[in-house]
Amino acid sequence: METTLVLIKPGGVARNLIGEITRRIEARDLQVAALVLMKADRAIVEEHYGEHREKPFFADVVDYLCSGPVVAMAVTGTNAVKAIRTMMGATNPIEATPGTIRGDFALTIDDNLTHSSSDPEAAARELALWFPEGTVR
Ligand code: ATP
Ligand code: MG
Repeated sequence: METTLVLIKPGGVARNLIGEITRRIEARDLQVAALVLMKADRAIVEEHYGEHREKPFFADVVDYLCSGPVVAMAVTGTNAVKAIRTMMGATNPIEATPGTIRGDFALTIDDNLTHSSSDPEAAARELALWFPEGTVR
């Protein structure tokens, strides 16, 4: 069993996709282990995207994640990290396969609706950052 972090970014919340995205995760037989709607703390977002600190788009992605409410979710299940990444689709929605969240609901890389942890090590680091109190189940 693995636990991974999913963020529904401000664009996904603004477009009323919380239910649709969560429905797909649960339909896959993955378990929501923690869930919160919040205005993200800028320091947490900068730490979250720390690997991208030197990239030209760093300021834009941080501004975007802080621009409105986000949903942070811990998701548990067999191979949850890979399962969720595959469900979300390619980073650039124009490359994302139909049937994925990004392939069905997103069009541009600056508003690709969700974040999900890239590997188990990233998941552990990100879960500690967003859910320092731990998960509910
Ligand atoms: P995320 O980490 O948000 O789940 P990802 O793992 O698919 O996305 P990363 O490479 O980690 O992709 O990039 C983080 C975010 O930075 C992307 O979701 C996207 O919004 C933005 N981003 C990535 N690459 C570019 C780029 N070349 N130009 C503009 N924005 C980008
Ligand atoms: Mg990433």
